[in-house]
Amino acid sequence: MTDQEIRTAIERRDKLPRLVVISLDAELRSAYDKARSKAASLRYLARVPREVRLERQRKIVHAYYLRHRDKVLADQQARRDALKKPQRVMTAGELEERRLRKLAAQRAWAARNRDRTKAATRRHLDKVGGAHKTTWAIRNRDKIRESKRLQALKHYAKNRAACNARAINSHHKRRAAGGPGVSRLEWREILAAHGGLCAYCLVAPGKTMDHVLPLSRGGVHAPHNVVPACKRCNCSKHNKLLSEWTSRPYQPVAA
Ligand SMILES: [Zn+2]
Repeated sequence: MTDQEIRTAIERRDKLPRLVVISLDAELRSAYDKARSKAASLRYLARVPREVRLERQRKIVHAYYLRHRDKVLADQQARRDALKKPQRVMTAGELEERRLRKLAAQRAWAARNRDRTKAATRRHLDKVGGAHKTTWAIRNRDKIRESKRLQALKHYAKNRAACNARAINSHHKRRAAGGPGVSRLEWREILAAHGGLCAYCLVAPGKTMDHVLPLSRGGVHAPHNVVPACKRCNCSKHNKLLSEWTSRPYQPVAA
């Protein structure tokens, strides 16, 4: 057998011929033994139901207790005594140091075992679907809203001139495009007709006004050319025609 064949067999936890096993070096031998014992325990787990396994375990533990009764009881008493002794309380600095040490060890392990951590994450996500995100987002809706509001305020305070310029610019563009314009009331009616949702993805709130035929492409600023869009869809569509913007189908909501 070639070296590669042997490694593959070990990876698949296959049984190797006795002569091959004898010829393995220490490292491969240990990997082989580990793989075979893992295979055996998997076979055992598949063959024996959980209740039976637990019952067997209980019997083994109880048999040990019967054989070493004095030792077991003495150990238990020693543990109880140790708990009674006043324990030294760690200082905040020591606790923090221990936390960082553990964290560093965890990170180092994760870095060495990138494949395993990735696979575990994938398994977890497969299992819970998007549930973890949804529930967190739902539980913290107010927190998210407040943090977004603060962020927007901060951004505006820092970039006041640019923000104002953009608003004025877009106002001018709409005016320059001609058309009757869109009143506040009309916009509210359009929003209501779409159930407040983005007209493109039908999922996110339609917070921005999108011109179906872009102003820069000859569209007018008028109610019939305006739909609510979420920022994401609006940015993605930008100044493309619907026929050019194929990433999401346009599905108008009946008014
Ligand atoms: Zn959208």
